[in-house]
Amino acid sequence: VLDSPSPEPMLRMQIMHLVDLFANQLRLIEARERDQLTGLLNRQAFTQTFLQLASGAAEQLGHELWLAILDIDHFKRVNDTYGHLLGDEVLLRFARVMEKSFRFNDRLFRFGGEEFLVLMRTDETGAGIALERFRAACEAYEFPVVGKVTVSIGYARANPGTLAPDLVDLADQALYQAKHEGRNRIQLANQAPVAESREAGDVELF
Ligand code: GH3
Ligand code: MG
Ligand code: MG
Repeated sequence: VLDSPSPEPMLRMQIMHLVDLFANQLRLIEARERDQLTGLLNRQAFTQTFLQLASGAAEQLGHELWLAILDIDHFKRVNDTYGHLLGDEVLLRFARVMEKSFRFNDRLFRFGGEEFLVLMRTDETGAGIALERFRAACEAYEFPVVGKVTVSIGYARANPGTLAPDLVDLADQALYQAKHEGRNRIQLANQAPVAESREAGDVELF
């Protein structure tokens, strides 16, 4: 209608209003899903995205789904020493380093405070390489005034049927271990290998 040589004015106006309405809805959805400080996806968007990626259709892509929790080391010290404003700047820059380091298809979230999540389709080796690359990129980055900041990372594989909170718990336990062992490192979760867990998942419950 809009392209026709002489569109009916009322019809044309109605269509233009609908287009505006639709664009505003998209902007609202986008704003709801984003963390205001870093622009990354927020905690609310995580569960939704996890469900999408863990669904059958996505499984056909043939790769496992991995979750990593990234937690900035001694971030409280950054705030205490340099103040909240520079602390916020570290969070913002940290998110930009994440965007540069991870792949376009990886989903990046601010989970809260100085904790971030990454969902990626890969295998154990690929997850290890990507996370170690980011850990090193963070260590190498010069944050304004604050200087050096390091990150500890725990990561776990989403087995078929894994629920989002359980996967977060698994990765969080690995993160705890990474902190305990001295920080500035990545740590794989303690979980059964794929073959075993698939068998376990096959058990009939009914
Ligand atoms: P660890 O190495 O064990 O992770 O130590 P940590 O100091 O990073 O951990 P802790 O959980 O004790 O401190 C996190 C700090 O993050 C405390 C809180 O004030 C700060 N924080 C949380 N959200 C924000 C924010 O939006 N901006 C700023 N500037 N600080 C924040
Ligand atoms: Mg923390
Ligand atoms: Mg921390």
